[in-house]
Amino acid sequence: MNIDFPFQQPSLYGYKLNELKSILSPAFRAKQIYHWLYHRYENDAMRMDNISKTMQNYIREHFALSQIYPIRVEHSIDGSKKYLFETYDGHCFESVLIQMRDKKLGHKGEVVESEKWTMCLSSQIGCKVGCAFCFTAKGGFVRNLHASEIVEQVVIMKKDNQMAPHKRVNIVYMGMGEPLDNIENVTRAIEILSESEGLSISARRQTISTSGIAPKIKQLGKLNLGVQLAISLHAVDDKLRSQLIPMNKAYNISDILTEVRAFPIDTRKKVMFEYLMIKGVNDDLKSAKKLLQLLNGIKAKVNLILFNPHEGSTFKRPEMNDVKAFADFLIKRGLLCTIRESRGIDISAACGQLREKVKAENVSCETLT
Ligand code: SAH
Ligand code: SF4
Repeated sequence: MNIDFPFQQPSLYGYKLNELKSILSPAFRAKQIYHWLYHRYENDAMRMDNISKTMQNYIREHFALSQIYPIRVEHSIDGSKKYLFETYDGHCFESVLIQMRDKKLGHKGEVVESEKWTMCLSSQIGCKVGCAFCFTAKGGFVRNLHASEIVEQVVIMKKDNQMAPHKRVNIVYMGMGEPLDNIENVTRAIEILSESEGLSISARRQTISTSGIAPKIKQLGKLNLGVQLAISLHAVDDKLRSQLIPMNKAYNISDILTEVRAFPIDTRKKVMFEYLMIKGVNDDLKSAKKLLQLLNGIKAKVNLILFNPHEGSTFKRPEMNDVKAFADFLIKRGLLCTIRESRGIDISAACGQLREKVKAENVSCETLT
């Protein structure tokens, strides 16, 4: 077990059920504690009232529980909520809860409203990759999030929104950070979140988005967790991609696609290719044509993302007509393509923006608590 906590005792949110069983005796205690953590959202051992006082004290002495604290929540008119968390060592990062409403036909032909919840989680505080268009990149890299800090983002958002423990949510690792640069903690979090005695969010409902660290895609594939893969492609030639994503100089488009082809994918699923559209940079039909060629033979779907402008950036949001023409081109040729709705556009939507906004207000993380 490799749980590294430089400043604190390990958090209970960082353990798989079997690991907890081997640490606590008798083993059934682990199940009870899992129940408190993930079904009752209890984060104080002294309130876990079906376990002995001795065990409560043991937990208090040897483990931490909460390590992250929501210090600001912004509500969007579309139902999304953006959370700014502060860590136990005084850093800030963000997560987003996205609500999508849909209308479907029921068994009797009646219109039934359905809702879908997605949680967009951070995997690091800052990021080392340094993409030219990304707000997170501007703040540099601080540290990896522990698995427990990743798991706790979900627990806190579920509790705050009074969601039943097994209410279906999708997880996307598309907040701050490059998840494959923190692969051990992210994959541990995926496994903890999927524990059936816990939140039971199967790996199939969790998507790792990566800027394309080819050897780590291979490593992830070998683990065969059943997790979904999203590749932030954003450009169809290496020259432009290296300008947008400097890491492309180390692992280019061909290296990435080689690993994607070898990645174990559920027969009913596809690899998502994210394509960030920037006005006058990569939003033309020539790029769409090249994209189609590149993805030939891969079980792929494309998600077009509209560049989200932020202060200091010279890039511009593309025209909707160009985005639609790009999407139509792909769809007409049989490639599944969607346009990402910018959820929470009114609430500092692009990752890293809420953190910067709070900094700009000259309020330190500490003073907001
Ligand atoms: N590091 C990972 C996951 C976090 S970023 C990755 O790069 O895939 C999640 C997504 O947000 C990526 O597709 C990224 O390219 C995109 N993104 C970053 N900055 C953006 C911006 N200003 N506007 C729109 N999307 C952005
Ligand atoms: Fe890091 Fe992703 Fe932002 Fe690039 S887009 S800097 S990989 S968080």
